Amino acid sequence: MVFLKIFEKGQETLMSKLDQLLTRISCASSPGVEDLETILSLENPAEIKVLFNFADAVRQKVCGCGILLRGIVEFSNFCRNTCAYCGLNKNNSALPRYRLSMSEILESVARIAASKIKTVVLQSGEDECMDILDLLEVIQTIKERFDMSVTLSLGELNVKDYQLLKKAGADRYLLKIETSDQALYESLHPGMSFENRVACLHDLKQIGFQTGSGNIVGLRGQTLRMIAEDILFFKEEDLDMVGIGPFIPHGETPLKDESCGSALLTLKTLALARIVLKNVHLPATTALGSLKKDFREEALSAGANVLMPNFTPVKYKKLYEIYPNKRCVDEPEGACVSCFTTLAKSLGRTIDYSRGDTLKADKSVI
Ligand code: SAH
Repeated sequence: MVFLKIFEKGQETLMSKLDQLLTRISCASSPGVEDLETILSLENPAEIKVLFNFADAVRQKVCGCGILLRGIVEFSNFCRNTCAYCGLNKNNSALPRYRLSMSEILESVARIAASKIKTVVLQSGEDECMDILDLLEVIQTIKERFDMSVTLSLGELNVKDYQLLKKAGADRYLLKIETSDQALYESLHPGMSFENRVACLHDLKQIGFQTGSGNIVGLRGQTLRMIAEDILFFKEEDLDMVGIGPFIPHGETPLKDESCGSALLTLKTLALARIVLKNVHLPATTALGSLKKDFREEALSAGANVLMPNFTPVKYKKLYEIYPNKRCVDEPEGACVSCFTTLAKSLGRTIDYSRGDTLKADKSVI
């Protein structure tokens, strides 16, 4: 009995120390990287629960209980790059390639609109044969026909093309930095440069896109310090959205023999990102839903406020194989929406059908 009391007291002290540390991180304009590393290295389940609850409280304060939906259309799996982790890399000759026609894209967008979702994310590999003029027309048509915001995720383009896409009506752009460690970045992206990736992010912001980035957790050679630095990079870049997902090995890539990134470390990274970044949109990523178990529910309780139902036509969905065993690839387009509604209810949350623009416009929520 006496022992139990001492243990409880010790636990209590541990918890209040952790609470103090999280409060210090949350209040700091530039949190210390060691503090972030300490949080990422937590292993005690009771402490991890404190972290998740803290992040959940920040999410509630900044975003409320609504979960935003973004309908994604993966319109081409052609790619000129050879990213070491990605199944779309051009050296993967086993993958049949596809590119949606303009009318196929617009049909998918119409399905998103019919589901009352107000954001379409158009994503592709870096497809050299994609005609920018076609894409501009698609964006203009979406903006004319639907009350919808358009997010693009097409990789690195030149400033002129980014400007044209913005002018055509695109609202947002996602370009994940993948890792903020330059040496690790360049070892994973043959022929690409870290400086150019960062320059693209700056161009996008300067042009006026609501800008998103993000990282992959569990890459070979990645340390907790690097992940802590990723979060500081996101803060420095003052992003509107940040996507955080675990690494999942793909059999047709150089990283095929590596193991999956840890779900727990990904969730800790997400929670810490919410505490440090506060007024950003953080999706419960499809990658977190595609490990042995679906961890998106845990993500929504550890800081996430966005889900991304897939509206790629069923016959192409399987071929957008950035990693294997993507959750729900056999489901009809948009089937996830009803599952997400049930999920939201079970968490005491709601689905928010608004556009979900940047949270940075309203400085009062910080
Ligand atoms: N061409 C676009 C889109 C890339 S695919 C671009 O360069 O931005 C979208 C995201 O999938 C990538 O940014 C990457 O973070 C993620 N991804 C790719 N392969 C992955 C893998 N094996 N495991 C986890 N995430 C992966």
